[in-house]
Amino acid sequence: MFRNSAPRLPPLWPAGGVLLAAAACAAQDTDWATLRARMVEQQIKARGIKDERVLRALATVPRHEFVPEAVRADAYRDGPLPIGHGQTISQPYIVALMTAEARPRPGHRVLEVGTGSGYQAAVLAELVREVYTVELAPALAEQAAARLKRLGYRNVHARAGDGYKGWPEAAPFDAVVVTCGADHVPEPLFEQLKPGGVLIIPVGKVPAGQSLLAITKDAQGGRTTRDLGPVRFVPLRRAGDGPGK
Ligand code: SAH
Repeated sequence: MFRNSAPRLPPLWPAGGVLLAAAACAAQDTDWATLRARMVEQQIKARGIKDERVLRALATVPRHEFVPEAVRADAYRDGPLPIGHGQTISQPYIVALMTAEARPRPGHRVLEVGTGSGYQAAVLAELVREVYTVELAPALAEQAAARLKRLGYRNVHARAGDGYKGWPEAAPFDAVVVTCGADHVPEPLFEQLKPGGVLIIPVGKVPAGQSLLAITKDAQGGRTTRDLGPVRFVPLRRAGDGPGK
């Protein structure tokens, strides 16, 4: 009878406050999930990407956690966003397209060149066994590694370095996904593919003239190239090019 008497009430107020704050957080998480579901429907499914696993990965990875606070509200918009250091996180549709074209399977090991925010690596990590990702800018590499760890992506191996050379110690890969534009196909990346593997890479002499290529390696080591259409990526730089170049 005395259990709910007045003297016991005041200590409940702070707990009630915490509960309210938790409810507000949950509501916000639901909002992000709603925006994400809409992004998948309107930007990705509507443009012809049908692979259910890829769609589910895009509906799962919290893209708003990968962009700077200042542009967080735009995280699920249909476009690229700045991530600092003159670099960008790609448009969601392009991430979905590159992911689908990499033909991810649960047992696969995939290399990404250009970690940036870590978003593409996280999407791949939802779909394959191991993701190896290399970023030239040390500050971005460090931030992305910390973010991926915080979000619980234990199957992503991230390091700073020149991704032109791939990650020879971890090769061969089932797929290599390059998220910066090169003026030619780096040979080490093709070499580090398994037979049957695929290299997804934007190639063009100038950023405005890039094509997204899917280059498949056959059992004899020969290549078949498909052009997936025009894209615009920040340039692949080489170690020593200097920042912002
Ligand atoms: N995949 C990223 C977006 C990449 S933007 C994401 O999901 O957020 C392209 C990135 O490639 C930039 O961060 C840039 O610093 C990096 N980059 C450019 N040249 C590189 C190289 N040679 N090796 C590794 N990363 C490189």
